[in-house]
Amino acid sequence: MSSIFVIGSSNTDMVIRSEKLPAPGETILGGEFLMTAGGKGANQAVAAAKLGGKVTFACKVGDDIFGRQAVQGFKDVGVNTDFICADPVHPSGVALILVDVNGENSIAVAPGANGNLQPVDLETVIEQIKPGDIVLIQLEIPIQTVAYAIEQCHHKGARVILNPAPACVLDDAIFKYVHTITPNETEAELLTGIKVTGQQSAAAAAAILMTKGVKNVIITLGAKGAYHHDNLLNKIIPSPTVTAIDSTAAGDVFNGALAVALTENISPEDAVAFACKAAAISVTRMGAQASAPMRSEL
Ligand code: ATP
Repeated sequence: MSSIFVIGSSNTDMVIRSEKLPAPGETILGGEFLMTAGGKGANQAVAAAKLGGKVTFACKVGDDIFGRQAVQGFKDVGVNTDFICADPVHPSGVALILVDVNGENSIAVAPGANGNLQPVDLETVIEQIKPGDIVLIQLEIPIQTVAYAIEQCHHKGARVILNPAPACVLDDAIFKYVHTITPNETEAELLTGIKVTGQQSAAAAAAILMTKGVKNVIITLGAKGAYHHDNLLNKIIPSPTVTAIDSTAAGDVFNGALAVALTENISPEDAVAFACKAAAISVTRMGAQASAPMRSEL
């Protein structure tokens, strides 16, 4: 079985749920506090490992309690942490999240060590990559590191999945090294200028991304599922109908599951269906990494 290398961010999410969000200068007493592991890279690595993938995660954490706790969490689900660097200067990434009773939120993220993941930090992990391996990468680390990793991993013969989240304009030069790009509707619009609302607009957006050099386009469409576009197959693959409770990290679970499916050499259509199923399960429960399903649940 091929290996999965996830390159990206790790954060600690600190959430306070309270009656209402504080106005500037205001202090709100009451509510409850919850601390969970997050970051798109970490969420995707954990989702892939829980689904049975052979996962190595490369990221940068601070030399602090949050970083050590995150690394232990990855080890607990079987993720190889040998290539995680501890930054001696920058602290671990932290997201402060305030949520009110209506679900409205207010979020501040200090990327910390994530913002200092440099190309040089990835040299040894990229040496491990073999032809046919999967590399999964997102945009919560410096864009020059993303560009370096995509090009180098492509040259090693890996299939690079780029999840272009959070939405960000990208230099067209990197697209020719991307095997599969997985934007949601908002990200697809930012990258192509086309508002994605259904099959026809998704096809138009995908065609633009293919023209830029990407080989496969998968646009996630929330509850509707995902649109898959390559040289052979252009169709929406539906997600199972579920009662959604919390869609946090649905996209991350989708990407982690897609990576696992692609290591198992099933058809692209079946791989997208597998990813939709895993992501649909994740929205039926609370949390990010905690909501990602185990393989036995699929
Ligand atoms: P998020 O930002 O919440 O992590 P996203 O915007 O990156 O998500 P979406 O397109 O909303 O990504 O969702 C990713 C996948 O999750 C979808 O392709 C679908 O398979 C699944 N999904 C999301 N919401 C639902 C839902 N309500 N019911 C079933 N499946 C869902």
